[in-house]
Amino acid sequence: MFVKPFRYVRVHDVAEACDLLRDEEEAKVLAGGQSLLPLINAGLFEPGLLVDIAHVPAMQGVARSDGYLEVGALACHAELASNAEVRAGQPLLARAASHVGNPRIRNRGTIGGSLAHADPAAELPLALTALGATVVATDGRTVREIKADEFALSYLSTQLRADELVAHLRVPLLGPGWGWSFTELSRRSGDFAIVAVAVLLRCADGHVLEARVAAAGVGERPVRLGGVEAALSGATRLELPERLGPVREVDPASDAVASAEYRRGLLATLVRRGVDEAFARSEEP
Ligand SMILES: Cc1cc2nc3c(=O)[nH]c(=O)nc-3n(C[C@H](O)[C@H](O)[C@H](O)COP(=O)(O)OP(=O)(O)OC[C@H]3O[C@@H](n4cnc5c(N)ncnc54)[C@H](O)[C@@H]3O)c2cc1C
Repeated sequence: MFVKPFRYVRVHDVAEACDLLRDEEEAKVLAGGQSLLPLINAGLFEPGLLVDIAHVPAMQGVARSDGYLEVGALACHAELASNAEVRAGQPLLARAASHVGNPRIRNRGTIGGSLAHADPAAELPLALTALGATVVATDGRTVREIKADEFALSYLSTQLRADELVAHLRVPLLGPGWGWSFTELSRRSGDFAIVAVAVLLRCADGHVLEARVAAAGVGERPVRLGGVEAALSGATRLELPERLGPVREVDPASDAVASAEYRRGLLATLVRRGVDEAFARSEEP
């Protein structure tokens, strides 16, 4: 396979990147390259210009601020999995990042790239959906905020305009009384999940007060499971099995990896396990 020649520019600030995206119709952002370069190598995508944002200082790192983690779009999966602020402040995000690919992928791939690529089985968009995170996007002149659970439109498609970048993510910190879990099944360790489930439960006096449950691998984008969340309201741990039956609010498709029926059964199993694990964590001192 011969790759069609393209130009390459390494930029050092956001405005420079967005100007190039505006001026050049065939321009594409390059971050960690772990999703884009395989597409180019396979001849599925032919950019005229790659705008390399990997060294833009304003998009790096993780910082804690007033109830949130501010996560730069260029934070790589390995950084999220090991960063002390992330592990303490939002452990579900750290755990989700540790499930992505293998060490090579985790050292290069970025959270902004994972969101913008919008694979429906990807771990980080799922975690951000469950966590109620905000995507901060910019065209270099203006900034807009997009709820993470509305960011992906469908398979490999998002709300981002052609001249916009994901600049950073705002992730709420885990408060007291919350338990969490992130569970997935993949064919081999490091593969994309067949189905993945993220759960956050706020419990007090042995009862669920608030639930956030989301799944990936069961539709064209990660989804909140509102029916499951409603069923959990007020439940004790002993009541969980009777509250959690088949998950009817999604309609997974069959593909080469798994049938729709298998995904549906797996989803129900992972929701049960994930909810139980999150409940147990909520009771830890
Ligand atoms: C072998 C292999 C296994 C993998 N396994 C998994 C897995 O198990 N789970 C999983 O979730 N992912 C997996 N991935 C994908 C990996 O996580 C990628 O790193 C990630 O999806 C994209 O991040 P990136 O920084 O490499 O983006 P790139 O490949 O550089 O870009 C991906 C897309 O996002 C756009 N983009 C990148 N950054 C931005 C930004 N800040 N703003 C706007 N647009 C942007 C690019 O233009 C491109 O369209 C795997 C990849 C490989 C090659």
